[in-house]
Amino acid sequence: MPDFDVSTLEPPREIVPGLWRLRTPMTSNALPWIMPYAFAGKHGVTLFDSGYGTPEAKTALTAQLKAIGYAPSDVQRLLVSHAHADHLGLANWIKRQSPGCEVTMMGIEVDWFAASHHGDDDWLTRSGVWMRRHGLTEEELERGLEESRGGPPWGRMDAGAKPDAASETERRSWELHAEADRRLVDGEEIVFDGWLVVSVWTPGHTPGHLCAYIPEHKLTLTGDHVLSRITPNVSLSQEGDEAHRNPLREFLASLKKVASLDTGLALPAHEDTIDDLPERCRVIAEHHEHRLHEVLAAIDSVEGVPPSAAQIAERVTWNRPYSTFGMFKRRSAIGETLAHLDLLREDGRLLMHQAEDGTVRWERAR
Ligand SMILES: [Zn+2]
Repeated sequence: MPDFDVSTLEPPREIVPGLWRLRTPMTSNALPWIMPYAFAGKHGVTLFDSGYGTPEAKTALTAQLKAIGYAPSDVQRLLVSHAHADHLGLANWIKRQSPGCEVTMMGIEVDWFAASHHGDDDWLTRSGVWMRRHGLTEEELERGLEESRGGPPWGRMDAGAKPDAASETERRSWELHAEADRRLVDGEEIVFDGWLVVSVWTPGHTPGHLCAYIPEHKLTLTGDHVLSRITPNVSLSQEGDEAHRNPLREFLASLKKVASLDTGLALPAHEDTIDDLPERCRVIAEHHEHRLHEVLAAIDSVEGVPPSAAQIAERVTWNRPYSTFGMFKRRSAIGETLAHLDLLREDGRLLMHQAEDGTVRWERAR
């Protein structure tokens, strides 16, 4: 694989004195970049998010740190918004360059990451059972196994990522990193090198997603919780299902929470900066409100046997037609549909029942 040509990188952008937005390449066309933020200090540099564990991302991060006067060995602290591969991916590599680096995450995220056993074969088997339960056909599951061969299992990386994005070694490097040197709780103050950052627990996209608020500058680092153009995937996963979580309800509450922060500029991990964070939160909440109606209409449009989550996912609007989705996208579309179905069930508008064939089906509460 050719290494990354750093001359194609936009130079780091200084948001306020000493806070820089960096760039590292992703593997998906939909989201070409992940933006780590660098807090410059006298004693070193603190990062918020890292990048994929790919050689290209390492080259890019090294070049971008150099442009602001640091080397990877100067990274004193790595705050991680959430345990997805594009945010956590370089953590182990950074620790190797800078052994004293304090990897810092929400404690809840660390526990979730450790408990979900994404990488093992048992997880794949359980995932297959779970998807069958929610209406994926044997043929689709076969195709999914084919696609995941040689790459990380489904559900592991952000939607749109190519399964072969990282080499075996790189994948292992982030699988191993289920530990944090510092576990945060909500509202905790992180003080370092002239900076004060407040942790804002924002579950939804993942159970322990972290946003970071910088009161002095009225800046909010939003990770993947709020992005400027796309809406983050909010899915009921098999682990969430087992833990009786309702990620959409959590996500909507987290939107309200960040909207209430006194923010001048919001800085997401992908896409553009956000000038009006409360407005962007309102638009995203509206998108989900609309999706709840679509889900109900999809259920009404099926005659006879009540539909499964897969059948409902097929009937709602996505950025591309559902029929063109590969297994990975199909799984996340079903997870996202389930998050909506589950919220409607909790609100007493839907009934969920298990059919004789084991499939979970959904119908209107009369
Ligand atoms: Zn991301």
